[in-house]
Amino acid sequence: MSEEIRVRFAPSPTGFLHIGGARTALFNWLYARHNSGKFVLRIEDTDKERSTDEYIDAIIEGMKWLDLDADEGPFRQTDRFDIYKGYIDKLVAEGKAYYCYCSPEELDAKRKEAMKQGKALKYDGKCRDLDKPVEGVKPVVRFRMPHEGQTTVEDLIKGNVSFDNEQLDDLIIARSDGTPTYNLTVVVDDVDMKITHVIRGDDHLNNTPRQTQIYEALGYKVPKFAHLPMILGADKARLSKRHGATSVMAYYEMGYLPDALINYLVRLGWSYGDQEVFTKDELVEYFSFENVGKAASIFNPEKLLWLNAQYIMNSSSEKLGELVMPFLVKDGTVKEGQEIDMAWLAKAIDTLKERSKTLLELAESLRYYISEDVEFDEKAKAKFLNDNSRDMLVELKDGLTAISDFTTEEIEKLFNSIIEKHEVKLGKLAQPVRVALTGGTQSPGIFEVIDVLGKEKTVNRLERAIQSI
Ligand code: GLU
Repeated sequence: MSEEIRVRFAPSPTGFLHIGGARTALFNWLYARHNSGKFVLRIEDTDKERSTDEYIDAIIEGMKWLDLDADEGPFRQTDRFDIYKGYIDKLVAEGKAYYCYCSPEELDAKRKEAMKQGKALKYDGKCRDLDKPVEGVKPVVRFRMPHEGQTTVEDLIKGNVSFDNEQLDDLIIARSDGTPTYNLTVVVDDVDMKITHVIRGDDHLNNTPRQTQIYEALGYKVPKFAHLPMILGADKARLSKRHGATSVMAYYEMGYLPDALINYLVRLGWSYGDQEVFTKDELVEYFSFENVGKAASIFNPEKLLWLNAQYIMNSSSEKLGELVMPFLVKDGTVKEGQEIDMAWLAKAIDTLKERSKTLLELAESLRYYISEDVEFDEKAKAKFLNDNSRDMLVELKDGLTAISDFTTEEIEKLFNSIIEKHEVKLGKLAQPVRVALTGGTQSPGIFEVIDVLGKEKTVNRLERAIQSI
């Protein structure tokens, strides 16, 4: 049997789940699912000053919304300090790491001097071969990097990338308070959690030769690596708030569907022929690193919006009804505890889903269906609810009141008889009716609107509009 594929997403909880992090999580999740492997969630919270429980919750919330379910975890590195200590002690005992007593001030002065002379900013190895401790100083632990030769990272996306060991610093693996640092904890955890593939942003590529050396010093097999190219803004700068919202949950709030965001994220770096829209099942089936590009990707909010509109258009109205409900409650259209007939809501959504790019837009349009009364747009009211339309509106209202069979066919007949009598085109009647029924000049076809509103609401709204003239 071949080895089980195990991958992990290892965010540091120093901020919300952002677009780049979500893309990394997604590629890990897809790789695990494609290979029937395991997806582990690990919280890298060793930087106690910048990590918070709120950010941990926010990351988990974002992953839950995107439905990127982990098979194991979340594990927290702060729960695992004893494990790291065991490995640090082992490295020291074997001479593969050593205590360093240099003070921060001393190191700082050396760094400044090196900078002045244009030399590499690298620890000079003063404590590398000390034979006895310096009394009264709490040491850090440094890893003994080889100084000769090269370390080659075999990367599934970038190919082989070699680093001169000369460039690698004797990095600190434990601080003077005994707490471990990132490059050590990440290796220990990836070993301990039997990670076979490390998939992460290529901002970590420079750490990989260092981590490779630590794996080898501990006598463990190095996992496979896949470093994902960065995500940039349109101006080629690293993605930041300037380029639009970067937090995943901001997209929830703006009314994006999680699957649309997933579909957008996967295309930031991965492609499959010319196909743009994928179901999650298709993504799981097609995903591989062969189709991940080497170049950085450009974040394009317009394309994300376009995709979202596609997803809304292609979702069932029943599902959209459930997804839009929190937005309707939030904006007060639906009161807490108010019963909404979900089949009726789906019928209303049928008329709107091709014209709504986000759930927020959908919720806004649904307001005129759900609310008791409409708010008139002042300009529209002045233009269409006036003496030119009054008589037609009265005739329509009376006619609709009299119709026993309230079907679109009958309603259309009534419209036609009124416009024929007044010798006008349909728009001359439809537009005032639209303003009367929806408050504005933009809406689905007028017969669809009437169909959704039903007889009573339609007649009441016409009456109210006539009264307002
Ligand atoms: N905790 C690191 C980060 O959030 C990720 C480390 C890794 O994936 O190896 O950038």
